[in-house]
Amino acid sequence: MFVGNQREGLRAAPIQWIGVTRRRTRSLGVIAGLETFFVRIRGQLIWLHGVMFVGFLALILVPLVLPDPPEDAALFGHFTTAANYILWGLWFPLVFVSVIVAGRSWCGLLCPMGAASEWANRHGLKRAIPRWLRWPGTPVVSFLIITVLGQTLGVRDHPEAVAEVFGGTLVAAILIGYVYGRYKRAWCRHMCPIGLLLGVFSRLGAVQFAPKLHQPGGDAYSEKGICPTMIDINRKRESRHCIACFRCVHPQARGGLSLRLRHAGAEVEAIRDHHPNAAEVWFLFLGTGIAVGGFLWLVLPFYQELRLALGEWLIGRGWDWIGNAGPWWLMSVHPERREVFNWLDFTTIVGFMFAVMALLALALVSVTLAAAWLAGKAGADRSLGARFLELAYQYAPVAMVSLLIGLGGELFDSLRLVGLQADAIGSVKGGLFLAGLLWSLYLGERILARQGVAASRRGLPLLPGTLGSVLVGLAWWPAIFGI
Ligand code: SF4
Ligand code: SF4
Repeated sequence: MFVGNQREGLRAAPIQWIGVTRRRTRSLGVIAGLETFFVRIRGQLIWLHGVMFVGFLALILVPLVLPDPPEDAALFGHFTTAANYILWGLWFPLVFVSVIVAGRSWCGLLCPMGAASEWANRHGLKRAIPRWLRWPGTPVVSFLIITVLGQTLGVRDHPEAVAEVFGGTLVAAILIGYVYGRYKRAWCRHMCPIGLLLGVFSRLGAVQFAPKLHQPGGDAYSEKGICPTMIDINRKRESRHCIACFRCVHPQARGGLSLRLRHAGAEVEAIRDHHPNAAEVWFLFLGTGIAVGGFLWLVLPFYQELRLALGEWLIGRGWDWIGNAGPWWLMSVHPERREVFNWLDFTTIVGFMFAVMALLALALVSVTLAAAWLAGKAGADRSLGARFLELAYQYAPVAMVSLLIGLGGELFDSLRLVGLQADAIGSVKGGLFLAGLLWSLYLGERILARQGVAASRRGLPLLPGTLGSVLVGLAWWPAIFGI
């Protein structure tokens, strides 16, 4: 028996090995082809950026001068409904999904905002990037402001709100680019409201740009090199700031970076080697919470009860002005569409979103701390704080999938166009949701393995993390599957 198995093993091994070698050679060929292609076209990307810029302006500005579409307008039967679908049904969800297969290629190859910011930088003042901009919390604040403003303005329903949010962000990107940095994208690295979001999720991605000759010392910030997002390329270990622009790729040279494939989630599994950091973890917790809050106020009856109670209480104390409509640039004021927010609406929406954010963040901090503590008891290495930071990254898949399903509703609704019924669409969402949840659990287990917890002792520290992933999922449940 033993001898027979050994012989089979000996016979099978070379065949298996040849298969692996062939697959590897094929994938190396694909990567070499991609590198050559993108290196060749990178000088021409300006034309693509120009087209994207004009298209982007059309999407946000043309609906302003058109009459409102009829209530029953088909998806592509009116420019405004089409523009709305392109922004929320295609761009928003697909950019998130794209980071899994292509990293932040949207940023490096297509985004008109980042390209405009860099173009302005080329002709601008080139001042040193100030400390306030480099503060790791700046993109977190930027994300929170834009998310809340999007809700109070009704960015999914009103072209004026789309113009303000996207147009305002574009102007800010150009201004920051014009003033700060020397041939860089200070906006993309430090202030873009979705840059950090794409950055966190790109850590899950199946592609990376890695140094051919790696220098030790860990990731570093450098305004001197070729990288537009200030990555010291030879010390690069983390993906989050890499916008996949191919500028550091020189296939024939011995140095620089090269495109590499890895399995999705590999960077998070080994997060300790890829600069886990508190700013990103806070963003993951707070960003998830504020996005959930931004959806829940729309669907929960509890929100309406809260608003009513707060309104009665304030008016009872003589705060009658709370019933007045606010300025158009801060809240939705569209009497022609029968929607006018007053200060009570504004206060309740903002308060509700921040309360949900605080509660979810508190819950995630608690369960992650518990997981880190239990991991220590089970033999994990490093300090409690370091284990906490590493384990916090396990929620990335469930947060990403929830965000995709919860806020990409238009994409899933449009599956009706290809013949899917409501039940089938629900199954697609449910399947994705379950996959995100299981992926998070798997990452939690892998992170514990890297912390040195023996396989037989991982169950207990895995429990709080599982609870955290389920919590994120449950928070999105009404958004995904209805109440
Ligand atoms: S970071 Fe933001 S502005 Fe910059 S390229 Fe990415 S999405 Fe566009
Ligand atoms: S590391 Fe290379 S590919 Fe990534 S952003 Fe910097 S220059 Fe572009």
